[in-house]
Amino acid sequence: MATKQIAVLTSGGDAPGMNAAVRAVVRTALDKEVEVYAIYEGYKGLVEGGTRIRKMDWDSVGGILQQGGTIIGTARSEEFRTRQGRRKAALNLVQLGVDGLIVIGGDGSLTGADVFRREWPSLLSELVQSGEINAETESEHPNLVIVGIVGSIDNDFSGTEITIGTDSALHRITAAVDAITSTAASHQRTFIVKVMGRNCGYLALYGALATGADWVLIPESPPDVDNWEKVMVERLKAGTRAGRRDHIVIIAEGAQDRDGNYIGSTAVQRVLEQGLGEEVRTTVLGHVQRGGRPSAYDRNLATMLGYEAVIALLEAKPEDEPLVIGMKANRIIRLPLRDCLEKTRQVTEAIKAKDYEKAMALRSSGFQNAFHTLKTMVRALPHPPEPGEKRFRIAVLNVGSPAPGMNTAGRAAVRLGLDNGHIMLGVNNGFKGLAEGQIKELEWTSVSGWVSLGGSALGTNRVVPKGKDMYAIARAIENHRIDALLVIGGWNAYEGIYAMINERANFPAFNIPIVCLPASINNNLPGSELSIGADTALNNIVDAIDKIKQSAGATQRCFVVEVMGHWCGYLAMMSALATGAERFYLPEEGITLRQLQEDVNMLKRGFELGKRLGLVIRNEYANPIYSTSFICSLFEEEGQDVFDARPAILGHLQQGGDPSPFDRIQATRLARLCVERLIEQCSQGDATGCFIGLQNGEFVFHDMRDFDRMADLDCQRPREQWWLKLRTVANLMAKLAPNHRLEIHCEFNS
Ligand code: ATP
Ligand code: MG
Repeated sequence: MATKQIAVLTSGGDAPGMNAAVRAVVRTALDKEVEVYAIYEGYKGLVEGGTRIRKMDWDSVGGILQQGGTIIGTARSEEFRTRQGRRKAALNLVQLGVDGLIVIGGDGSLTGADVFRREWPSLLSELVQSGEINAETESEHPNLVIVGIVGSIDNDFSGTEITIGTDSALHRITAAVDAITSTAASHQRTFIVKVMGRNCGYLALYGALATGADWVLIPESPPDVDNWEKVMVERLKAGTRAGRRDHIVIIAEGAQDRDGNYIGSTAVQRVLEQGLGEEVRTTVLGHVQRGGRPSAYDRNLATMLGYEAVIALLEAKPEDEPLVIGMKANRIIRLPLRDCLEKTRQVTEAIKAKDYEKAMALRSSGFQNAFHTLKTMVRALPHPPEPGEKRFRIAVLNVGSPAPGMNTAGRAAVRLGLDNGHIMLGVNNGFKGLAEGQIKELEWTSVSGWVSLGGSALGTNRVVPKGKDMYAIARAIENHRIDALLVIGGWNAYEGIYAMINERANFPAFNIPIVCLPASINNNLPGSELSIGADTALNNIVDAIDKIKQSAGATQRCFVVEVMGHWCGYLAMMSALATGAERFYLPEEGITLRQLQEDVNMLKRGFELGKRLGLVIRNEYANPIYSTSFICSLFEEEGQDVFDARPAILGHLQQGGDPSPFDRIQATRLARLCVERLIEQCSQGDATGCFIGLQNGEFVFHDMRDFDRMADLDCQRPREQWWLKLRTVANLMAKLAPNHRLEIHCEFNS
C-alpha cells in the first residue's frame, strides 16, 4: 500500500464522541506505522494550511476521550465549496505527501469530501501547470483516498443505523425532559419541548419514547389529519381525565403538517393554551443537546469507527469507490459513500415533496416500529376490549438483581397488553411473591412514571424456585387463573423458568406461555447481545471513572477499579474501552502472575516516561486470589517511588440510577414483542417457553429448552460472546506509544 501519510479532520456541526474517533484514527495509524496529521478547523484549516495542519503523535490524543466537542476544531468553509479553495487544499495535502483523508462530519462534509476526491487528479495537474508542485509529486499521489465517518447528533445519515453523537444527545434530551416532567407534574402543567432534527425526527421520536412524552411531531410523519390540533387537544384532555398530572409534547425542529407548513412551538403553544384553557410552557433545548461529555456508547462507537476507517483506508485501492464506515446490527460495516449520500438526499427530498410515505419507508424498520409503538404508548387510556374477545390474564414479574429499565419494560408490557384488551397482573417480589400469591391487577395509570424509574417497582429478588416453591407457584398460577407469564430479569429468572419448564410433567399449571426478557446489568444472558440495564451500568461506571481520574491531581497514580459483571467481562472491557484504561482483567481470561508482572513493568515504564495517571479495570470475579486489594498492594510495592496505586470498588452505584435512553428504548421494544408473542401463543394454545433477544440486528425468540445449550451453566454466561472480538481495538488504544513499548511478548487479551 502506497499511502504512508494520512490526515484526519472534523467538519460540520460538532458531536460528542468526535474526539474518540480522532484518537482512534491517530493511534491506529501510528500502530500501523503510518504518519498522521490532524487538520484543525475542518475544511477551513485544510484550505489555510500552515499551522492548521499538524503531525500527531500517540500522546497528542491522550486524555481527550471524555471531552465533548472536537479538540481539533470544526468550521464551515465557504472557500472549500469553490474549486479555488479545493485547489489550495490539495496543495496543502500533497506538499506533506498526504493522499489519504478521513473526514468525520455530516452529510455536507462527506459530500464535499467526495467532490474533492473526484477533482484531485485535475487539481494536481493544475498545480503542476502553475509550477506549484512538480510532475514527480503528481505522479506519486495520483489519487486521494477518502474514508468518511458520520458525526452528527441528528442521526440523519442513511445506511448507518446510528451516528456519532446521537446517543449523547438522547442522554441530554432524556435528562432535560425527566426534569421538566417532575416540575410539570407538580403544577399539573403542559410543556412543549423542542429538540434538534431538521430533516430527521430521530431525536424527537426516540426522546419521546424514552421519556413517556404524550405527543410528538416529526418531519417524516406529520399528523395524518387536517384538524390535528383539535385531536391533540382532545387526547391531552382525555389524559387529564384519566388521571395524568402533566403533558409533554415533543417537537422536532423540522416538524411540518401534511401540507408542508412548518409547525413551530409558538403556534403549538397557542393551540394548547386555547384548547386546554391553561398556561403552557415551552423549552427549546438548543445547543445543550450537542454539548457535554460523550456517553459510553458514543465513545466506543467512535473508537470502533475510527479504527475501522484507518484499516479501510490502508486497504483501499485507488479505483475503489469512497467508503463511509457505519454501524449495522451492532457490527461495524463499510458502506459505499455515494449510495448513502444519495439515500440521505432522497429522504430530505421526500419530506420537501410532502411524500411522507416515502420518507417513512426510507427510514429503518426500527424507526417505523418505534413510531408505531409510540402511538400506542401516548394513548390516554387503552382501546376497550372488542365485544366477545377472549381476555387473557398475563402476569408480569421481575426476577434477579434490579436492572435499570425493568420498570420501563414493565410499563410498556402492561400498557400494550391492556390496549389489546387483556388483563395485566403485577407480581411483587419475584418468584417468592408469585409463590405467596402477591399478585394484583394493574391498570393504565398503575404504571405512570415507570418509564424513567430505576430499580424495580414490582420488587425483585434472586430467589430461584425449587422443591415446594414449585407446588406453591403452580397453585398461585391456578388460583389467579394466569394464562401467560412475562418474566423480566437476569440469570436467576432464566434459571427459574428453565427449572419450571423441566417440571412441567409434574405441574401441569406450568403449561402456559412464558417469555423471559433479558434484564441484567451483567449482560450475561444467552440469545441476546445486550440485556436491559447494561448500558446504564456502563454509563454509571464511565461517569464514576471520569471523576476518579480527575481526582488524581499531580501524583503519579494507578487506579485499580473493580466493576460488576459476575462471570461476564462485558462491563469491564467496555468501560476500559470507554475510559482509556491501560489494562482490563476479565473472568473469561483470568489473571496470571506473569501477566501482572508485565503489567507492573508496562505501568512503571509509562510513568517513567511522564505518564501521570494509570487505570486498570478488574471484573469482580476475574480471579478469586488476585483480588483488587491484592493487585493494588502488588502495584504499590512494585511501583516503589515511581507510582502509587489506589483501589476503587464501584459497588452498587453501578446498578442504580435512572435507566439510560438506550435501555428505555430497548426495554420498550422488547416488551412490545414479548406481549405480542404471549397473546399470540395464548390464542393458539401454544405453551412453548422462550427467551427473547437481539442478535445480529434481529429480535429472536429462543426455546427455553435451549438454555443449557446456549449458556455455560457453570460460568453463568452465554457460550458465545460477540464483544470479545473488540479486545483487539481496546488493547491497541491502551498501548504505550510504539517507540516506548517494551520488548516483551504479551499474548494476553489478544
Ligand atoms: P451537520 O449537518 O451535521 O452540521 P454537515 O457536515 O452536513 O454537518 P455542512 O455545513 O453541510 O455540515 O458542511 C460542512 C462543510 O462541508 C461546509 O462548510 C463546506 O466547507 C463543506 N461542503 C459541504 N457541501 C459541500 C459541497 N457540495 N462541495 C464542497 N464542500 C462542501
Ligand atoms: Mg448536514
